[in-house]
Amino acid sequence: MAEILQKLRGGLVVSCQAPPGDPLEDTETIRRIARAVSVVGAVGLRINSAEHVAAIRRDSDLPIIGIQKRYSGGKVHITPDFASAAALAQGGASVIALDCTQRVWPSGEPWQSLIGRIHRELKLPVMADIATLGEALAAADAGADVVATTLSGYTEPTRDNPGFNWTLLAAMVGQLRVPVAAEGRISSPEEAKRALSMGAWCVIVGSAITRPGAITTNFVRAIQRKGSAAPAIGADIGGTLIKAGLVNSNGEVTSLAQVPTEASGGREAIVASLCKAVGQVLTDAEKRGVKPAGLGIASAGAIDPQDGSVFAATDNLPGWTGFPLQAFAQAKFNLPTWAVNDAHAAVLAELHFGLGRSLSDFAAITLGTGVGGGIVCGGKLLSGRHGFAGSVGHHVISEGGRPCNCGRRGCLEAYVSTAALIREYQAHGGSIPESFDDAALALHINQQAASGSSAAVSAYDALAHYLAEGVANIFNLFDPDAVLLSGGLIEGQERFVLGVAEQVSALLHCGSKRKPCIKAATSGHLAGVQGAASLVFAGQNDWNDGE
Ligand SMILES: [Zn+2]
Repeated sequence: MAEILQKLRGGLVVSCQAPPGDPLEDTETIRRIARAVSVVGAVGLRINSAEHVAAIRRDSDLPIIGIQKRYSGGKVHITPDFASAAALAQGGASVIALDCTQRVWPSGEPWQSLIGRIHRELKLPVMADIATLGEALAAADAGADVVATTLSGYTEPTRDNPGFNWTLLAAMVGQLRVPVAAEGRISSPEEAKRALSMGAWCVIVGSAITRPGAITTNFVRAIQRKGSAAPAIGADIGGTLIKAGLVNSNGEVTSLAQVPTEASGGREAIVASLCKAVGQVLTDAEKRGVKPAGLGIASAGAIDPQDGSVFAATDNLPGWTGFPLQAFAQAKFNLPTWAVNDAHAAVLAELHFGLGRSLSDFAAITLGTGVGGGIVCGGKLLSGRHGFAGSVGHHVISEGGRPCNCGRRGCLEAYVSTAALIREYQAHGGSIPESFDDAALALHINQQAASGSSAAVSAYDALAHYLAEGVANIFNLFDPDAVLLSGGLIEGQERFVLGVAEQVSALLHCGSKRKPCIKAATSGHLAGVQGAASLVFAGQNDWNDGE
């Protein structure tokens, strides 16, 4: 039995199925689909029904994971009894997959006893299809030879989980002694690769490969994304304010709540403020009879792209590091939830609703208290292994230069942030009105520069010089279509943006020929809210395996 599992190791298993009533639901059609995927490198097949298994077995030596779906009351039960398992074995299945969730099926045999009978009487290994870690552990205890994440998202307690359940996979790989198969809503080659690199024994993909109907739906939805879809909630957790809004699929914010973060109160206070802000938007949505499609949350700090937890946060949000943001919010609000770094969210807003719509590759830099950024390649935001990708504020433009908050010296952030602008303004003889805090002061200098005051103009010129060094580095690194600048510092500063563009052109090799495109971003102070909400719209286009 172990031999068969060895054949699946590190490979792609393709699930070739068609739901009842689907035009492809036909034995010969399924056989041909199985053949098409077998000749190009699939290491195994997952096939529904003894009839299909037998038809495919006639011309294939590949391991076949056999299942028998039974439909009742709108629900589907996978291989409910020994007779189904025996028929699959008779047809030539190499592994029998079973529903090993806690769901109770009145007409089925308990899966615990089925596992034993399949081992003893059919001499075949068993794949346990489960939805939770508890079910995975129970199935392994009961003797399952391989445990698959297949049913996560399809049972009542897990129903609202969007996309593939990476958290579950990681926990299973960590705690199970038997092989773990990654299955359910794996939508791309990248995700398949990621599942294997996380320790999955094999990866099983269905809809994304074998269902032209699902693939077409995905294309059609992406093309026709109009204002008619359900709106999403976007929330943006900053050091002083938490903003939450109802956002439609054109990016318009139709309802907005703003609540002080109360960050000094630590994690509990921040969570309470988040719940208050999102709660206000939910109440407003309910009044209008609108059901939000999901929740996207942008937060300061690096957000782990695997599970949406806070990988690292600065002292602006004390106690925030390690908080399972996505999992918490999903359970709290009972909505499909995504989490993302706030600078990344601003880039997503530009990508989906701003200038980025017509760009394939661009970088965006947000100038404010800190310098955030993000990089889009081929229309996709790079998040990085730990959520740090595109941290342009912390690349060094002057070795051994000014100290930076990150601990290094000479970072771009030390030269072009709000504090740097104020310092340059003072150095050029600008007077500072008493009782102004940094934010008010930055606004003051911004207005002074717009009206031509020499100290403010000189301060901006100094910043343009440093920023040009950083932006030129970005052009050298990945030659993007454009670099977009945003943040309060940029508002109304066309002269500054032009100055940066001219200097970058002079710094680049073949700069005059390349004509680097540097522009002010179009999304404004709600970019974090809009970008976070865009994750919901993008997530709705994920594949649905329909197990
Ligand atoms: Zn730094």
